Amino acid sequence: MTSRHVTTEWIRELIRCGDTSPFYNTREWHELRERKRKAEHYECERCRSKGRYRRGMVVHHKKYLRLHPELAMVYENLELLCDECHYDEHHHTEQLNEEKW
Ligand SMILES: [Zn+2]
Ligand SMILES: [Zn+2]
Repeated sequence: MTSRHVTTEWIRELIRCGDTSPFYNTREWHELRERKRKAEHYECERCRSKGRYRRGMVVHHKKYLRLHPELAMVYENLELLCDECHYDEHHHTEQLNEEKW
């Protein structure tokens, strides 16, 4: 984990270079991600909206990081998902490899 300060410009640069993993390794992201998980009680939001309980650990960017780096650290742009819902979300867009999570 690194303590580098996250800026939109930096993320744009990572996207240009084709590897956004340094962003996902920052302390700032880890803290924001954990805040989101706690707020949702570690439950997948989509499963919950369908009346199911499933543990969610993946914090997804509703507006994808690659397309909207300026929303990377915006709490409202985050959604807590289980692996399955996250897979479904990215399955057709084939962005999983680029976004990592
Ligand atoms: Zn789910
Ligand atoms: Zn995602």
